[in-house]
Amino acid sequence: MIDESLQIKLGGALSEKLQVKIHINDAKSVSGGDINETFRIATNEGYFFLKLNNTAQYPDLFQQEFSGLQELRAAYALSVPKPLATGTVADKSYLLMEFIQKGVAVSDFWENFAAGLARQHLITQPHFGYPVPNYIGTLKQYNTPYSNWPVFYAFNRLMPLTRLAYDKKIIEQQTVKQMERLCRQLPRLFPAEQPALLHGDLWSGNFMIGNDGRACIYDPAVYYGHREMDLAMTRLFGGFDTRFYYAYQSIYPLVPGWQERIGICQLYPLLVHTILFGGNYYSSVREVLAAY
Ligand code: ADP
Repeated sequence: MIDESLQIKLGGALSEKLQVKIHINDAKSVSGGDINETFRIATNEGYFFLKLNNTAQYPDLFQQEFSGLQELRAAYALSVPKPLATGTVADKSYLLMEFIQKGVAVSDFWENFAAGLARQHLITQPHFGYPVPNYIGTLKQYNTPYSNWPVFYAFNRLMPLTRLAYDKKIIEQQTVKQMERLCRQLPRLFPAEQPALLHGDLWSGNFMIGNDGRACIYDPAVYYGHREMDLAMTRLFGGFDTRFYYAYQSIYPLVPGWQERIGICQLYPLLVHTILFGGNYYSSVREVLAAY
């Protein structure tokens, strides 16, 4: 259970948002996340989902998650839990959102998921980026706008994390040099592509089967980027069903050469994992770089 002052504050925030008196009866811990404490909150108006973390460490992390969820909901493409309130109590930050009730997958679950993601990826804007920096996990995600993907990917994604990992003595100078070499080759490897609205952290732990039997996505690191980033991420830890990839390809085909770019697109989440969790992820980074 969460402490009483937090309960009162959360009850107040929900009451204000929903315009009905909300009383919190219970909070049950939910496992599965990497970063935050997560709970299912039981109230007189049903369940809500709560995320908590330490304010001092990540001051605006939940504001950014709130805005990312709103951006994805506005796409009307895939199901996304509605963010309800965010704020602080003592040394804790909180984020309250709609609770996703688990369901049973419909028979065309993967095709439907692919179609929704393709619809989301068709939402575009003139440049790659996002109005503010946000987070991937607990790492700052740079979103300075560029009209060219290779430049965006090198300057906002690969090089900042390469530098961070080197400064933290997690990777060697040789890897930094290889990464710089790869970045110089990005213009040759990526044909022109329009910016796409991305989930930004779309691995299998960041979607659930909702009670309508369809995919519900959450925990995003939203920006307008290259859509192969989302697809490469889905393949990183286990991968999605092959029906998903067939369906996506038939709805919104990728530009030839995408197979070679999977590893390159996975470098960013691999660097994130190398920095946050270490271990084998660094070997995977080196394996990808070895080809360039
Ligand atoms: P973290 O930010 O720590 O990675 P997540 O946002 O991934 O946490 O949430 C942790 C787990 O809680 C998820 O793996 C999922 O099982 C569950 N979950 C996430 N969002 C919701 C939600 N809105 N409703 C119900 N369960 C959720």
